[in-house]
Amino acid sequence: MKIALIAHDHKKDEMVNFTIAYEAIFKKHDLYATGTTGKRIMDETTLDVTRLQSGPLGGDQQIGAMVANNELDLILFFRDPLTAQPHEPDVNALLRLCDVYGIPLATNIATAELLLQSIEKGLFSWRESVHKYKTVND
Ligand code: PGA
Repeated sequence: MKIALIAHDHKKDEMVNFTIAYEAIFKKHDLYATGTTGKRIMDETTLDVTRLQSGPLGGDQQIGAMVANNELDLILFFRDPLTAQPHEPDVNALLRLCDVYGIPLATNIATAELLLQSIEKGLFSWRESVHKYKTVND
């Protein structure tokens, strides 16, 4: 599966701890992250992450473009609901695209945990069909 990881500044420690806790699962998947989140994860785990731009510099939009191209299977976005973000429009656009394309999206650690565990249980196999269908109809 292709998984995108994003964490606002006050949530970055939580994201790093989450990736450490679930490193064994994350290792089996292709990981993408916004710039600073990706750097923290790479510095503090053994995970390989494809880093995009930092969120405020377009990283959320890059992840949105991947969603629109059916290139992501899951987005774990640890949002900070208590701090205004300069790139709020980009954040909202990304959340909207996940709804447009029906891409699984967690915006907090509790949901992220449930979704990650459901990958292990094989509950994401429907995403393989989506990929196959897209390829057949391209
Ligand atoms: P960052 O971006 O990982 O580069 O900090 C995340 C965000 O604020 O959207």
